[in-house]
Amino acid sequence: MRTIGHWVVKFGICLGVAAGAAQAADVSSIDDADLVAADDDLGNWLTHGRTYAEQRFSPLAYVHDGNVGDLELLWTFPTGLTRGHEATPIVVNSVLYFTGSWSVVFAVDARTGKEIWRYDPEVPKQTGKKGCCDVVNRGVAVYKGRVYTAAFDGRLLALDAQTGKLLWEVVTVDQSQPYTITGAPRIVQGKIIIGNGGAELGVRGYVSAYDATDGKLVWRTYTVPGNPADGFESPALERAAATWTGEWWKYGGGGTVWDSMAFDPDLDLLYVGTGNGSPWSRHIRSPQGGDNLYLSSILALRPETGEIVWHYQTTPGDTWDFTATQHIVLATIEIDGRPRKVLMQAPKNGFFYVIDRETGKLISADPYVTVTWAKGVDPASGRPIETPNSDYGDGLALVRPTPFGGHNWHPMSFSPKTGLVYIPVHDIQGVYRKDERFEFRPGEWNTGTDMNAFSLLTRPFAKGRLVAWDPVARKEAWRIPYATPWNGGTLATAGNLVFQGTADARFVAYAADTGRPLWEDHTGSGVIAAPITYLVDGKQYVTVLAGWGGAFALAGGDVAKSAGGDPDGRLLTFALRPPPPTTDEIKALLDQPGEIADGGRLFHHHCAACHGANAVAGGTSIPDLRKSVLPYEGFDDVVRNGVREKLGMPNFGRLLKMSDTKLLWGYLDSRRASAGNP
Ligand code: CA
Repeated sequence: MRTIGHWVVKFGICLGVAAGAAQAADVSSIDDADLVAADDDLGNWLTHGRTYAEQRFSPLAYVHDGNVGDLELLWTFPTGLTRGHEATPIVVNSVLYFTGSWSVVFAVDARTGKEIWRYDPEVPKQTGKKGCCDVVNRGVAVYKGRVYTAAFDGRLLALDAQTGKLLWEVVTVDQSQPYTITGAPRIVQGKIIIGNGGAELGVRGYVSAYDATDGKLVWRTYTVPGNPADGFESPALERAAATWTGEWWKYGGGGTVWDSMAFDPDLDLLYVGTGNGSPWSRHIRSPQGGDNLYLSSILALRPETGEIVWHYQTTPGDTWDFTATQHIVLATIEIDGRPRKVLMQAPKNGFFYVIDRETGKLISADPYVTVTWAKGVDPASGRPIETPNSDYGDGLALVRPTPFGGHNWHPMSFSPKTGLVYIPVHDIQGVYRKDERFEFRPGEWNTGTDMNAFSLLTRPFAKGRLVAWDPVARKEAWRIPYATPWNGGTLATAGNLVFQGTADARFVAYAADTGRPLWEDHTGSGVIAAPITYLVDGKQYVTVLAGWGGAFALAGGDVAKSAGGDPDGRLLTFALRPPPPTTDEIKALLDQPGEIADGGRLFHHHCAACHGANAVAGGTSIPDLRKSVLPYEGFDDVVRNGVREKLGMPNFGRLLKMSDTKLLWGYLDSRRASAGNP
């Protein structure tokens, strides 16, 4: 029956099941135990990286390396927005929750793409100026009947998951400063964890926990010390202050927690990545040197209090915008014959880190992309060995990677089946020079580097690739080269598949073990977000958000020109093409009872010769009726009174009665739902 249902939707004589009335699922059952056990929930995608370990690995294997060639587009949901779309959707009980640009939130039926609700937090457009990297948003958290999201202007919002109504909102930043939020909140032990960005302009980074019930602040942990004269918020910050010189607090210091988080419930540790310094140039920020803790670091926090339990700094005294906010993955892997609880990260600086997540001790660090700023990472001290000419304090330095990172926020994935990590890699050369005329301008860009020099990204040195990294063998297993950087995040599945969208608007499936390309389709707009997969009624879906944008798309200039596609954001959902129906199934379909089926029969008798089978206008100038915005009365006027006769739409008044146009209308309405148009 399921097969028939799919075929029916595809060919348009709708059974009224898949395209039926959409309603929000009851999500009140999602609690802390569900989030901890998210890996056992095969159908849903409960949290940003699917589980607290953020592996972005799905155990679903209905779609696998043997049948992925039969994957086809099932529906498209247009967001009606342009600019970068970076969200990972959450799936709870057949509803997809995600965000578009400008922090707009959507709830959509996961089977049909029909909109259930949308909420626009109405971010003032003027705040776009505060963003380093486009007005993007990476998604929501769903918990106990609510959808939590953070708006670009620094607000944290709680929405009713059923209706999309605002329950409360709280401002998490000083809005007079250039703070922004683009990251997805996480829920840990009843608290909403949220950070922010702004270190290009000049802010002091921190991460906060709010009570999920009422939005009250529970704790706030700053990542860099403030002015010592004001006292320190914690002993950890007092220790950190000893690694700074000069008057860094006047510039903010940086270290923003703008994206990655992971949680280990057994160790009771919340991991967050911190960003670059404010300003970038260490010579301006901390003129007498120093590591500048906790910039470019991975912090292990106690989720109850926000206390810093351990830290690992990937780029001491960062001066290149080498954030460590990139995706953090937790896994157990066998190293030297014994299983180790590790944390893995491929931060902007180009080294792939494997860290003991209990202690914060380095296990290994190896370049996953061309790296010129350091010769390597000393295994004993865990510190990078800087090359002599990479510090641009006295002049010009050509450095790889760049502020775009060897890997940026685009999530990587890890397959426990192959043991490989799938990293969207950007291989670009940067031109750094100290800004000799630097003066701090509050609220403006304050990198302390000559942005005119930075603009000299040269075309031959800007490539992208998908890299399958073996964290045990400490080397690349395979790679897929791309013409440009800034390709999408990845998803690994138990079907021996890796999915990735690309900058040039394709959605591709590779064999996870070998990298062999197995399938691809077009997405219209370039993809930067990561795909997900989920199960409803025994059917596996694969979904990806397309919408070209983000830092490289905006600032890459010439180098970014060959990517992108069209500007419109959309959610695309794919499923396996079912086998062709049998004669009996076709007969059952054609004889199917019901008003929508009757409308479908009328449509295919009178209308489909011009308006297309299943009301799909296949690339002609004749309107696609699934996208018509005419109300019924207007539609009836067109069909039976010939009001568009002069435009070529014949008058069907002598053939069709009002009862017929009502049936036609019902059928077209069902087609609109399956086309994803509200
Ligand atoms: Ca930055």
